[in-house]
Amino acid sequence: MAYLTRKNSIALIFVGAAFVASCSDAQDMTQATSSEFAATAPSSSPALAVLTPVTAAILAHPIPVTATDGKVHLAYELFLTNTLAQPVNLRGIVPMADGAPLQSPITENLLPWVKVFGATEPITILGPGQSALAWLDVTVPSPADIPEVMEHRISLQVTSPDPPLLPADLTETVARTAVSTKSAITIDPPLKGENWLDGNGCCSVTAHRGAVSPLNGQLFAPERFAIDYVQLTSDGKMFNGDRTSVNSYPYYGTDVYAVAAGKIVSIVNDLPEPTPGANPTGLTVEQYGGNHVVQDLGDGRFAFYAHLQTGSVPFKIGDNLTAGQSLGKLGNSGNTDAPHLHFHIMDGPDPLASNGLPFEIRSFDLTNQIANMDNLADVTDTGGAAQFATGVATGPRSNQMPLTLDVMTYDVAAG
Ligand SMILES: [Zn+2]
Repeated sequence: MAYLTRKNSIALIFVGAAFVASCSDAQDMTQATSSEFAATAPSSSPALAVLTPVTAAILAHPIPVTATDGKVHLAYELFLTNTLAQPVNLRGIVPMADGAPLQSPITENLLPWVKVFGATEPITILGPGQSALAWLDVTVPSPADIPEVMEHRISLQVTSPDPPLLPADLTETVARTAVSTKSAITIDPPLKGENWLDGNGCCSVTAHRGAVSPLNGQLFAPERFAIDYVQLTSDGKMFNGDRTSVNSYPYYGTDVYAVAAGKIVSIVNDLPEPTPGANPTGLTVEQYGGNHVVQDLGDGRFAFYAHLQTGSVPFKIGDNLTAGQSLGKLGNSGNTDAPHLHFHIMDGPDPLASNGLPFEIRSFDLTNQIANMDNLADVTDTGGAAQFATGVATGPRSNQMPLTLDVMTYDVAAG
């Protein structure tokens, strides 16, 4: 499925590129959202004012999470604005802690994925007055290495220097921010069985991470850690035969399970399931998730289970689910071009106007990893067989977050 690429997000539930494209006026975006950004951490000592032509703010304080590569990830976004009336060339954005680069090897030219609003391709030049998002995935070896405070060293070149105020080459240290002391929630898996493939999961810039949408006057990144689950057959295929029939997908209709105990706060159960193979058109914003359940897990965390089969949720709002309880069936409703379960954890009950939170799965087996995105596209679009990466440390895992392209076996705890 092309939806698993950066350029084309046709099967994510909320088409981020389209939403961002709809807000083409970067200045309006800045005004509407800047007051909503998380507060920056106070500096420990007073400092002289420094000219920083490119301003930067985080969308949300990063929350550490341990992933299947054994590393602790800090996945977050920076909102950049070029305040000059001339283009600037971004040369590097380096996350720092205690005055040193957080990741190594580090070069001054390290640049994360940066995209101007309305664009579909990454950029290195910010136009006059232009704003952009930068997607970061900082990793540290262990929880002991998580910094309390981070900042970002941005190196840039201006096209029309005016020394000494504005030299041609500038390095600025900006976006000082506290790392959240909140932990990733530990959950049971939402599915059961072998060969569940993590599509669009953290922390690459997939369709999910790219889905930052302007809603209610501010930016939200609800899908920062979201996973699109599909199940591979024993011969590594996602579907057999006619791509446009749900019956060609052996996992269609499998049970979806509550990942923890909690009350249902939202249900949609009556939307139709369009023909697989292409995304439906004409959906309202509310219909993007299709048939779905939102469950309050407590402590400001909500689970979102989307694209379920029509009429498959045998509950009502207010019902309490236990961990591991079946809540509905995997389907093909909403903005989807093939049966899959979209799952994420968020900080509010609205699947769109919320902020994505990390999660760790209590126990599972990492059995494989898809070799690359091209092979994934072959599996999802043409029915090809999966090719697996070599050298992946497979085996039992506990309290880790899956990464995109992981293939896992899940066994749900008794509910
Ligand atoms: Zn999705």
